[in-house]
Amino acid sequence: MKSTTPSRKTSRAAYLAHIPAAEAALRGKADRVTQPRVAILACLMSMDHAASHFDVAQALATHHPIDRVTVYRVLEWLVEKGIAHRIAGDDRVWRFMVGAPRAPVATHHQHAHFTCTDCGQTFCLDDVPTKFDFKLPSGFKPAEVDLKFRGRCSHCA
Ligand SMILES: [Zn+2]
Ligand SMILES: [Zn+2]
Repeated sequence: MKSTTPSRKTSRAAYLAHIPAAEAALRGKADRVTQPRVAILACLMSMDHAASHFDVAQALATHHPIDRVTVYRVLEWLVEKGIAHRIAGDDRVWRFMVGAPRAPVATHHQHAHFTCTDCGQTFCLDDVPTKFDFKLPSGFKPAEVDLKFRGRCSHCA
């Protein structure tokens, strides 16, 4: 896998279009709807793939620069609040995504992920069932299933 991911930057228009939805999502969850929280959530919403701290900081750099520590804190906070979820990449970098594409207010739900071995991006697969009839040894009670596909995404195929 390449060490650098292509910088498919969030367009300013896409980012701005998601600001009202980000504000609405935060209003129900946060005591304080701060500018960085709105900006970072809007940025996640405007992406079709999961984004690392670095991706978010870079995407916002041109229109709403936020220091990296704040980006880190806000992303962790979004996960804590169930607004976003995170996925460990093959490179051991966390990548973040809103609860579900086009339904950002939804809290974390179980779904599969797809990591592209070409561009390194991770995508949420909301329509792939993750409920299988696995037979685990007696005494094992799984709380979640981490189902991840690897291969080439539609951008790289
Ligand atoms: Zn790809
Ligand atoms: Zn996901």
